[in-house]
Amino acid sequence: MRTSIHRPSWIEVDLAAISYNLKTVMQALPQKTAVFGVIKANAYGHGVIAVAETLAPLVDGFCVSNIDEALELREAGFEQEILVLGVSAVSAIPLAIEKQIQLAVTSLEWVDLALESQADLSQLGVHLKLDTGMGRIGFRDSQSANQAITLLQEKGVTVEGIFTHFATADQKDEEQFHAQLARFKELLSKLKIQPRWIHASNSATSIWHSETVFNMVRLGDILYGLNPSGRELALPYPIQPALSLYSELVQVKTLPAGSSVGYGATYVTEQEEYVGTIPIGYADGVIRAMQGFQVLVDGQLCPIIGRVSMDQITLRLPKGYPIGTRVTLIGQDGNQTVSAQDWADKLGTINYEVVCLLSDRLPRKYKER
Ligand SMILES: *Cc1c(COP(=O)(O)O)cnc(C)c1O
Repeated sequence: MRTSIHRPSWIEVDLAAISYNLKTVMQALPQKTAVFGVIKANAYGHGVIAVAETLAPLVDGFCVSNIDEALELREAGFEQEILVLGVSAVSAIPLAIEKQIQLAVTSLEWVDLALESQADLSQLGVHLKLDTGMGRIGFRDSQSANQAITLLQEKGVTVEGIFTHFATADQKDEEQFHAQLARFKELLSKLKIQPRWIHASNSATSIWHSETVFNMVRLGDILYGLNPSGRELALPYPIQPALSLYSELVQVKTLPAGSSVGYGATYVTEQEEYVGTIPIGYADGVIRAMQGFQVLVDGQLCPIIGRVSMDQITLRLPKGYPIGTRVTLIGQDGNQTVSAQDWADKLGTINYEVVCLLSDRLPRKYKER
């Protein structure tokens, strides 16, 4: 699908904010900590190539969620280490080797399938994933992990890293976090190798448990200027949101009292009202549950009235504005700000989901500063 560049709805990304956020987090970590930038899902909706270019001089590698995301980076010419965090299809191992993409090894069963595939594994680099309490992917015990290491090493595979992932590092209650940390240390002590990279920290762990880094961290959400805990934990330092979402009024009208607006006629004007339409809708990731949320026009909060359509949204305006007036759906206008976290609060979700859902129909523009 082609991006809709002739429509006045767009995402603006402040790349300088992303570098700033990275440097800010790293300053609070032990000096020799290495960092992999997590740029899965189109860099959390921010546009993966531009974000990768920004991060490239500052990071030791990248993490993505699947092989195709890694291939996109290789095809764009990035030569950094790349780790695929999810489980990869065994059939794609030759491609991973050819493009020097490191894979996560998460179970003995996967290792067996890799061996059965008869692929030449001798140039493959992997990170062993340990499940210390996330209950998702990874080895639960040191015996099976050691068995996997033996089988892989027999085939010439290089184990580049060992890692785990915390389920609750973004929460006030630290009980599970400490249990997982203890479990990771225990498993590490029983493994037969100590590879180059030992990593356990996502953004939340890097921010609120900065003493528990091993020798590398995997930073995602915080790079984009988002608080991974939502509003549960305060950040120890200020960060800068990188993404804004804008549109423009394409029509403004006055509707007499008693006029309905949108599908289902769910909104009826109480008096004569100014109604503005913007060309963005649920197909862009502004989902229907955003009805009633407020966005910024001329520095003032204006409610979304009526249902959100696939491609259009209607706003109640305090007065008439000309066609082309800017509408800020995420970002700052005057003294007012609407954040991805405000969307998440409205929708009962997390800021990650808000930015990831912004669709490819929206062009990503990059702010000069
Ligand atoms: C997505 C992901 C990360 C990054 O998480 P953030 O909370 O965005 O920093 C780190 N590790 C793994 C395994 C992930 O899947």
